[in-house]
Amino acid sequence: MIPIHLDGVSKTYGEQADARPTVTVDLTVEAGEFFTLLGPSGCGKSTLLRMIAGFVAPTDGRIRFGDVDVTRTPAHKRGIGMVFQNYALFPHLSVADNVAYGLKLRGVGKADRVTRIDRALERVGLARYGKRRIDQLSGGQQQRVALARAIVIEPEVLLLDEPLSNLDAKLREETRMQIRQVQKAAATTAIYVTHDQSEAMAMSDRIAVLADGRAHQVDTPRRIYAEPATAFVARFIGRSNVVPAVVVRAEADAAVVRIGESEVVVRRHPDVAVAPGQPVEVSLRPEALRVVGEADAALHGVVSSLEFLGSTAMLEVDVAGSVVSVSTPDIDVAAGSRVGLGVDARTGWLIPESATDGAGR
Ligand code: ADP
Repeated sequence: MIPIHLDGVSKTYGEQADARPTVTVDLTVEAGEFFTLLGPSGCGKSTLLRMIAGFVAPTDGRIRFGDVDVTRTPAHKRGIGMVFQNYALFPHLSVADNVAYGLKLRGVGKADRVTRIDRALERVGLARYGKRRIDQLSGGQQQRVALARAIVIEPEVLLLDEPLSNLDAKLREETRMQIRQVQKAAATTAIYVTHDQSEAMAMSDRIAVLADGRAHQVDTPRRIYAEPATAFVARFIGRSNVVPAVVVRAEADAAVVRIGESEVVVRRHPDVAVAPGQPVEVSLRPEALRVVGEADAALHGVVSSLEFLGSTAMLEVDVAGSVVSVSTPDIDVAAGSRVGLGVDARTGWLIPESATDGAGR
């Protein structure tokens, strides 16, 4: 297994001198990792994946597979397996002939081909489907054929471009775990593109969150959720309250901040220095807030709306001009009532970028 290095890789479409890069990144995908490029539509995920595949040439930077610089290597010589959103299968060929395609191109002999095709189909749960025609399969099965075709060549690098977006919700959830299992069993380094944050969180070892042409954060799903680097990440991943606050004082790995009239202790990144009086932003997840009696409350506000969700309810509460979402067991409050909110100790997070680039000011 090999790592993939993207060294200042950047793409600018268009010839104008003032054209700005669509995307610029500097990151390493570790050997054997399931790594996801996540971001809203148009952020440059596909562009980045196509540069790694060799379909689009970078304007700047270098791409290395292990020790080998592949920046100028044509796609078919990069040794990649690729899975596309629309499957890209040959509809008139059998399942086995579709999977055989890459092996034939590489001159693999018939006997060896048969063994490898059987193994690949078994890996994706389609043993005994070899003779079926593609148009006799469901969408989920077709995508598994595409996955078998990608892994049968035993690629060092497996690239997947929104492979689940044509499947319905239930099938998407089943197939995502299967893709991850197949990738781990095939022992390849995988890069996966999606705009769906729950898919990214469920499948990935690490995620790069892309927006405005850059990686806002490259991290594990847990840390991206609990310790978002920027306000964009906090809002894009799950439901979060990004609330303006003022630093009262710094503690070892925490800070006391003022939100409205109240003081709250929030965690902070140890490398991010903060000074009393500094304006910042904090991320408070809805599940870190509770409705409590006014006397015990860290924050006070007025309920602006209430949404019943079954086992829980989601309240929107106006706290000193910021509307925050609160996940609570279903309780008897009405819009317009005043409530007190408790903040679970140290669940809040001081957003690092808001303390370093003045975004909180
Ligand atoms: P994503 O996959 O995140 O939706 P893309 O990489 O497809 O984003 O596109 C990023 C931006 O680059 C978009 O604004 C898109 O219009 C632009 N773009 C993509 N491909 C081309 C191209 N071949 N020529 C010009 N602009 C392009």
